Amino acid sequence: MFLSRSVSSARRLVVASTAMKPPLNGVSEVVSSTRNGRSFASSGMIRKAPLTTPLAAPNNHRPSPKSTLMPEEDTDRCEDPFHSRTASSSVGRTRWLISEASLSNDDRSRVVLLVLNADDEALTRRYEFPAIWLRDNCQCEACFHAGSVSRVLNWEQFDVERVHVAAVQPVDGGHSLEVLWEGAENGAVVHRSVYNVEWLLERSFRQEDSEAYLEEWYRPAPELWGAARFHEVIQEFSYADVLHEDEALRQWIEALIRYGVVMIKNAPLTEHECRRLANRVGFIRKTHYGEEFIVKAKEGTSNVAYLSTPLQMHTDLPYYEYKPGCNLLHCLVQSKDAGGGGANLIADGFYVAERVRREHPDQFRLLSETLVNWTDIGEDEGGKFHSIYRAPVICIGRDGQRLERINHSVPQRGSHFCVPIEQVDRWYRAMHRFVRILHEEAVQFRTAPGDILTFSNIRAIHGRTGYRDTVQNTRHLVGAYLDWDEIYSKLRVLKTAANKGPKEMESVGG
Ligand SMILES: [Zn+2]
Repeated sequence: MFLSRSVSSARRLVVASTAMKPPLNGVSEVVSSTRNGRSFASSGMIRKAPLTTPLAAPNNHRPSPKSTLMPEEDTDRCEDPFHSRTASSSVGRTRWLISEASLSNDDRSRVVLLVLNADDEALTRRYEFPAIWLRDNCQCEACFHAGSVSRVLNWEQFDVERVHVAAVQPVDGGHSLEVLWEGAENGAVVHRSVYNVEWLLERSFRQEDSEAYLEEWYRPAPELWGAARFHEVIQEFSYADVLHEDEALRQWIEALIRYGVVMIKNAPLTEHECRRLANRVGFIRKTHYGEEFIVKAKEGTSNVAYLSTPLQMHTDLPYYEYKPGCNLLHCLVQSKDAGGGGANLIADGFYVAERVRREHPDQFRLLSETLVNWTDIGEDEGGKFHSIYRAPVICIGRDGQRLERINHSVPQRGSHFCVPIEQVDRWYRAMHRFVRILHEEAVQFRTAPGDILTFSNIRAIHGRTGYRDTVQNTRHLVGAYLDWDEIYSKLRVLKTAANKGPKEMESVGG
């Protein structure tokens, strides 16, 4: 494992590209890169995220998902793209009413609804719902257990060939849809389902509604950044705020999802703050190196082993199929290296991958299709380990587009390369390209005691410049991991609580 040791002699965070960049506004310090020998100018301090606004401002940089369900509310909610459309159904005010319900003329397995806006009846919309889906999602007590928000319909007796609608109609003044289901034998009604209209519209099969739901409740899209934009996207949050205020916790998580790297400031200089932060979200992700890893240089100059050579840019633990999702690196003692050594390096691996895709599509294909053997062999407190996982450097989703994970670690790229021999040279050239672009898009800064650098381990690629450890120049860092499943889960819990109070969003059905 590689630990990114956050060390700094400067209180202020210095941000700079490792490539030569023009000076930015608010130049505060010039640091030399020990890696490529070039110097560069820095930007100033990281931006303080405005905790007084409802949500992190950068969310406004991208269009919020348009709701086709509540167009009038889009404008007054634009400052809050995560605002739940679900929320409206909890306040007892139905904006949409079913004016007509029928089976589709074209497809008798579809239920068609015409809904109109309660405030403006000229606003009507047409929705289609598959009958099979409606039957599967019946909200009656026999089919759905509200307490556990779970379907309890008996699928062992469920026959998809025998789902037939006997009748559909709006009920409850258009607030609900009633569906009567007939049995296969004699056409008698065997079951009755009632669905709240807002519950239905929140589950609209329109593509734009599905996309809005996925953006809001599944995984908000990342916003990629290159070196030139790092100073715009890096945000900082107060440790105390994140620990004690749900709004700050939510903003930190949202920034982490959006940008892949966020700074937390002013954590106490004690050893278990990463654990406290992890516990605030969920729980620490353990690895074969344990739960919290401590990097503490021993005092003394005699041991050349403590000469900290540059740490090449990498992602942690690529040899895990379930790679820890997010790094928390707490700086307790800073290096006093006058030469600028011991600085953090970081790049948006997704941005790097997109540059490769755009500029060198054939090499992108090689890097996203060639399985690499990632390995780690050794022994730690948990005993001996021998990990292997095969994955490309650039992992893309099933749609062939969406970036899911970056793997890059020179020491942990195994020497077994199980590919056809004629692919090898081409892959190495592609990898060389990737690393060159990575270094062009990497930024350098130094953390201070009390900083917790948080970043995505499936997206960000990090490293450390060289640094010499001496009696006068010790450092102490504690790190831990969090998994993205827990982070996303916490975000949804916070959003639900903020939008609806204690009422569970899923159990609104009629
Ligand atoms: Zn039912």
